[in-house]
Amino acid sequence: KTGKPTSTNMKKKKSATATPPQNTPPPPPANVTKQPQGKEVDNAEEDKVDSKDADEERLINSIPGIDKALAKQILQDIVVHGDEVHWEDIAGLNSAKNSLKEAVVYPFLRPDLFLGLREPVTGMLLFGPPGTGKTMLARAVACESHSTFFSISASSLTSKYLGESEKLVRALFMIAQRLAPSIIFVDEIDSLLGSRNQDGENESSRRIKNEFLVQWSALSSAAAGKQVKTGSKAEDKRVLVLAATNLPWSIDEAARRRFVRRQYIPLPESETRRVQFEKLLSYQIHSLTSADFEELVKVTQGYSGSDITSLAKDAAMGPLRELGDQLLLTDRDEIRAVTLGDFTNSLEYIKPSVSKEGLSEYENWALHFGSSG
Ligand code: ADP
Repeated sequence: KTGKPTSTNMKKKKSATATPPQNTPPPPPANVTKQPQGKEVDNAEEDKVDSKDADEERLINSIPGIDKALAKQILQDIVVHGDEVHWEDIAGLNSAKNSLKEAVVYPFLRPDLFLGLREPVTGMLLFGPPGTGKTMLARAVACESHSTFFSISASSLTSKYLGESEKLVRALFMIAQRLAPSIIFVDEIDSLLGSRNQDGENESSRRIKNEFLVQWSALSSAAAGKQVKTGSKAEDKRVLVLAATNLPWSIDEAARRRFVRRQYIPLPESETRRVQFEKLLSYQIHSLTSADFEELVKVTQGYSGSDITSLAKDAAMGPLRELGDQLLLTDRDEIRAVTLGDFTNSLEYIKPSVSKEGLSEYENWALHFGSSG
């Protein structure tokens, strides 16, 4: 995700297409799937799949009243495994990281300390321009807090799962509680909790929205009830709704109030851009001096994290692009380093995706409705 693959891709491409030097056996084409070594490997893989299926089956059967088919779908499509993101993978955003640590990570890791007045929030909103790292942050929070991570985009509730969305929402919260501590990450939350089509809002979207709000409220009362009954065991059942949006002003007022914490994720500042460029280029042979980095940081004011990734990816293609078809015959060691010039070329057409006017809308909203810190 951070641009690492470029050099490996180059290697694959070369071995798949270039003429190998004499006397060495040609490497296998990169696009051919490696065959398993033998029957034993086959069996081990099958056993793994079988035991995973059996675990899922057991889990589903242990939740009374859950829709089994939907539960399976949730475990397969919505629970995210692997692809870990850690704090250090995310450039900058220190105040957002600190706020997420305090609101989510520490309470999940040390539930015994966060009771009563320190009871953690059950909802947090990350808002800001697109491509600023909201999804990365959510993933990092799940990883760092050792939580089960459920990731769903709100628009898929109203499209892909339409017809079953209400049941899906119910099953989602049931599984999240069973696999707690859990984080339910809802991207594009505005399309679920939006107010813009109040009049035109159709019956089914309204029902999905209500179900979501009901389930979400039940989380806090379940936790509170449990705490009263058992003294301290609410901590075992922590589930947090972490939502992201590029359109915070579209969320209706009642829903907005339920997000006690509303964290602004702004465009990266210069120091953050520098760290991100350095990270991206650390995987690449380049000739950029610290003055060149300085220059890059200066000219990318207004670029989002994903704009910077696109720019670096495009610039990294510079040395290959100029080779044309010769690329197929050139040795990897002969490819020249990426230069500031490559960036200058790419800057011609990789432009910031957020306009100045757009940015001030976010800042305004942050001023009125954002949580400080
Ligand atoms: P959002 O959810 O805010 O739209 P993402 O988290 O999906 O943005 O980021 C999109 C891509 O941009 C990431 O995969 C990553 O490559 C890059 N990116 C954005 N912000 C950062 C950051 N702060 N540090 C490193 N990479 C970032």
